[in-house]
Amino acid sequence: MRMYSEADVDLSTLNDSRIAVLGYGSQGRAHALNLRDSGLDVVVGLRRNGASFSKAEADGLKVMEPGEAVKGAAIVMFLTPDMVQKSLYAAVVDNIEQGATLLFAHGFAIHYEQITPREDLDVALIAPKGPGGLVRRQYEEGHGVPCLVAVNQDATGNALPVALAYAAGIGGARAGVIETTFAEETETDLFGEQAVLCGGATELIVAGFETLVEAGYQPEVAYYEVMHELKLIVDLLHEGGLKKMHKFISDTAAYGDMVSGPRVVDDNSRAKMKDVLTDIQNGTFARNWIAENEAGMPEFKRMMQADLEHPIEKVGADLRARMDWLSE
Ligand code: NAD
Ligand code: MG
Repeated sequence: MRMYSEADVDLSTLNDSRIAVLGYGSQGRAHALNLRDSGLDVVVGLRRNGASFSKAEADGLKVMEPGEAVKGAAIVMFLTPDMVQKSLYAAVVDNIEQGATLLFAHGFAIHYEQITPREDLDVALIAPKGPGGLVRRQYEEGHGVPCLVAVNQDATGNALPVALAYAAGIGGARAGVIETTFAEETETDLFGEQAVLCGGATELIVAGFETLVEAGYQPEVAYYEVMHELKLIVDLLHEGGLKKMHKFISDTAAYGDMVSGPRVVDDNSRAKMKDVLTDIQNGTFARNWIAENEAGMPEFKRMMQADLEHPIEKVGADLRARMDWLSE
């Protein structure tokens, strides 16, 4: 494992480099503001009629249409939704400077060959391991969110130092930047969100809720047990791993964890996890997701609606309304 820290990075590499940040959502806003506060020359590229345009202007940033923003930029960072990157690249490619660096925060568009970059360009990845809000907040507090770095095309020979300087500019080098490849970043990121973080965790919660309610327990009590209290456990894991969680939960909870956890996540679940990983590795998931977008997202909308209409959502909203400290 190769990890870079601030001492390995020279931020002044970017002193005369304009950085175009395309997109101003979760990651875009955090990157643009952090880079600006690091003293770098930032311009945000957005559609003039889009919702983020006035927001970026109100934050005091230079904002232009994407095709204008990339002119004169030494770095072009793609922070639009992954499914938009292919058409956005096609729209701006003729205005991108010779030898510029294309940066991504997730490898999807490159790894699944949605974009085939011009041969004179450097292509690299700086992927913060956290949402944009945290990337901004940690930077403001003098810390940083760890990042992954990868180089996919090194036309100039400078792709790595430029990418690392960008990571320093957003604060990531303070926490460490781990070297990876586009394949590893893309496949592990997709697997994590599908099998564990989003898909796995929410299915576990909903299945636990349904099991309790079907057995005749009150939905409100079930909600507290399987969704509300999850945060306490996740915080302990985040701060100190399994050891810290075991230190703070009761012996009864720890014994139950160790004897019953493997009954729920058993060999069958592990085999299904492997299936999910295989679909990511062989491109099946990417093909399905791209086709779903091209069809106008009918299945996406149907499944999202079903998630939002689940009884746990109604119970949860009512209970959370009584805990005003949750929204603070
Ligand atoms: P987002 O949905 O929050 O924001 C997207 C932005 O792109 C918006 O400002 C939108 O107005 C703009 N946009 C959409 N279409 C556009 C177009 N055609 N031209 C210009 N701008 C356009 O996106 P996000 O979640 O910040 O994700 C951006 C990238 O970062 C993705 O590659 C994602 O995989 C990656 N990433 C996200 C996270 C995260 O926590 N959200 C974490 C790591 C990496
Ligand atoms: Mg789900």
